[in-house]
Amino acid sequence: MITYSIIAPIYNEIDNLPELHRRVCEVLDSTREPWELILIDDGSTDGSTDAIRELAKKDKKVRPVIFARNFGHQIAVSAGLDYARGDAVVIIDADLQDPPEVILDLAKKWEEGYEVVYAVRAEREGESWFKLFTASLFYRLIYRITDVKIPLDTGDFRLLDRKVVDVMNSMREKHRFLRGMAAWVGFKQIGVEYKRAARHAGVTKYPFKKMLKLALNAITGFSYFPLQVATYFGFVSAGLAILAIPVVVIERLAGSQAFYGQATTLIAVLFLGGVQLISLGILGEYIGRLYDEAKGRPLYIVREAPEKGQ
Ligand code: UDP
Ligand code: MG
Repeated sequence: MITYSIIAPIYNEIDNLPELHRRVCEVLDSTREPWELILIDDGSTDGSTDAIRELAKKDKKVRPVIFARNFGHQIAVSAGLDYARGDAVVIIDADLQDPPEVILDLAKKWEEGYEVVYAVRAEREGESWFKLFTASLFYRLIYRITDVKIPLDTGDFRLLDRKVVDVMNSMREKHRFLRGMAAWVGFKQIGVEYKRAARHAGVTKYPFKKMLKLALNAITGFSYFPLQVATYFGFVSAGLAILAIPVVVIERLAGSQAFYGQATTLIAVLFLGGVQLISLGILGEYIGRLYDEAKGRPLYIVREAPEKGQ
């Protein structure tokens, strides 16, 4: 029987691994409960894979899940959720931006009966203004346009009760936004504030392109708003056209020169063409995701992993 499962996705984090292991051990040993650390190697190329294997050989509490290639952070965490056996599962970044010591605060709330305890970033150290700005914008946009109320300024650092993990594991959607999924599930949820530290070592594995992809998955996964925008635009431009027709007819009959020439036509055509192409692109985002679901490929492929549930 395991009480706490700690899940850390690893993508080229060789310099963070020993310190992560040390601090997680220190914190979890202090609880005097049985625990495990699940390290998911998300296709690392810097030797992290072997380092994880070594750690697992030395410490039986470490359980390695090694992917066949890089599948991305959200998928790596999902695999961790699949393999976790604990009554409470904690998702944590491997770069020590989420201090393992905060796990004790999360656990306290869990013992009080909360089933999702998410860590809220009250302060962030060592991030660029661009990251802070885009992240802040992103959380607020998602909050506005999605149907589930995803708490502001929270990442994936959180504790999930076994009940929640089982429900999330039954949701096999390919384009995953775990924060949204955890909010969607319901149950008793609460936030705990913490100070997000700077990276212990290495550089971010979330370049702008990956952040954009995560944002798109979040929006498409939890909202139809972008699809509805096309409808609103359609009504507005059709309405404008209907209003414009009598105006133009009257102006022409009155001999006005205002509507001769091609510029007006060109602008209207370009504008509407643009709106239509953007709408088509948005539709494409949804259809592409639909196609991925239809293919029914597995979420991830493991090279090595413990038997599930053992
Ligand atoms: N990560 C991963 N696969 C990826 C990218 C990142 O498993 O494709 C892991 C990474 O090793 C780290 C966590 O996800 O443990 C968060 O990534 P990172 O710290 O680079 O993101 P940031 O904190 O800069 O947003
Ligand atoms: Mg980080």
